[in-house]
Amino acid sequence: SFVSMAAAPMLTKLQQDCATPLPVLRNVASSMSDDIRAGLAVDGGSDLKMILSYVDSLPTGDEKGLFYALDLGGTNFRVLRVELGGKDKRVIAIESDQVSIPQELMSATSEELFDFIASALANFANKGGTFLEKKAGKDVVACLNEAMDRKGIDMRVSALVNDTVATLAGARYWDDDVMVAVILGTGTNACYVERMDCIPKLQGEFSPSGRTIVNLEWGAFSKGLPLTVFDRDMDAASINPGEQIFEKTISGMYLGEIARRALLHMAEEGSLFGKSVPEKLSMPFVLGTPDLSTMQQDGTEDLHTVGSVLYNVAGVESDLSSRKIVLEVCDTIVKRAARLAGAGIVILQKIEEDTEDAIFGKRTVVAMDGGLYERYPQYRRYLKKAVAELLGPETSQNIVIEHSKDGSGIGAALLAATNSKYG
Ligand code: ADP
Repeated sequence: SFVSMAAAPMLTKLQQDCATPLPVLRNVASSMSDDIRAGLAVDGGSDLKMILSYVDSLPTGDEKGLFYALDLGGTNFRVLRVELGGKDKRVIAIESDQVSIPQELMSATSEELFDFIASALANFANKGGTFLEKKAGKDVVACLNEAMDRKGIDMRVSALVNDTVATLAGARYWDDDVMVAVILGTGTNACYVERMDCIPKLQGEFSPSGRTIVNLEWGAFSKGLPLTVFDRDMDAASINPGEQIFEKTISGMYLGEIARRALLHMAEEGSLFGKSVPEKLSMPFVLGTPDLSTMQQDGTEDLHTVGSVLYNVAGVESDLSSRKIVLEVCDTIVKRAARLAGAGIVILQKIEEDTEDAIFGKRTVVAMDGGLYERYPQYRRYLKKAVAELLGPETSQNIVIEHSKDGSGIGAALLAATNSKYG
């Protein structure tokens, strides 16, 4: 139709700007490896912080006993108790409790907040140690321990564990071949098992196993990414302009917003939805990544679901030809994101190059978690295809990309129990 004719060249331009052919992916993968090496050499040596976890023993599956973890989120927290019975029995029992943090506590003092958490924790577990998974910053250990003192609760927080590191440990509990963990949710991050003698900034420090988990904080990566004017505008309008560029290109918080900006442009300059521009489409973040996923699952001939999502979330009236363009926009943004995430996973190449134990010659597992990976089938497919393209047919047969659901709770508990830094 006439409408989509005007928007079609804009779509082509978007597709060109977002293209991730193999050379682009290779360049991203090798730049990421360079950043990793630079970040392992000295603190502040690269965009990637390469945070050492001080994990010196990874879960083996032999662990026995009762373990606790506390997962602090932004608006709620989860307490978890897991009873492990060793190699044969594995997880005997697992119990968890989700507690939402009352609205009034969000604006209260941090003391009041930690008192609340401490009480909820005490309700869940009456005795024993407590292990904490980190999401709320470094002071939480001290704050929680103080809160427990104030409340006369006989518990101690013994370790702070990053959630990506916990995911790797949790996956490793079941499978010794796990080398990398990647979170693709609202945000994104990755970590991997590194040899300590490949970490110059450790300055010769060693643990018995000679290995540790390194947290890349890869959301901060920024080199060689194919970006569009919509990415740049979104970044400029963000609370952290110029930062977390990889995260802003590949993670769940942003994909809907990038698509919205592209669609708004097409509506304004290309009459994608007719003469008038729907007002709601100008609202930042009105279109969520789950909306993109819902639209992309539409199997109806008239793209009925696409139409209703557009109408419900953005007040957009659309015909079939504009719906088709909307789907192409979604696909373009998601394909770029997933392929770039796949290029990130090819840091496996770096591990292969720097260690003697050739990981490409044997089964190697990448543990994936997060709502975006879990709930966006197209994202998963594009990611796996990019990894296969980059590694080639033979090598990629040995690389298993596996969804590790909810491993982080067990992982955090085990790491805290065996690698206590604050105990
Ligand atoms: P976290 O906020 O801790 O990352 P999750 O791992 O559950 O929590 O990820 C939630 C994110 O996953 C959401 O912010 C959203 O971006 C993405 N997401 C949730 N549901 C879907 C869906 N159906 N399709 C695509 N992405 C989704």
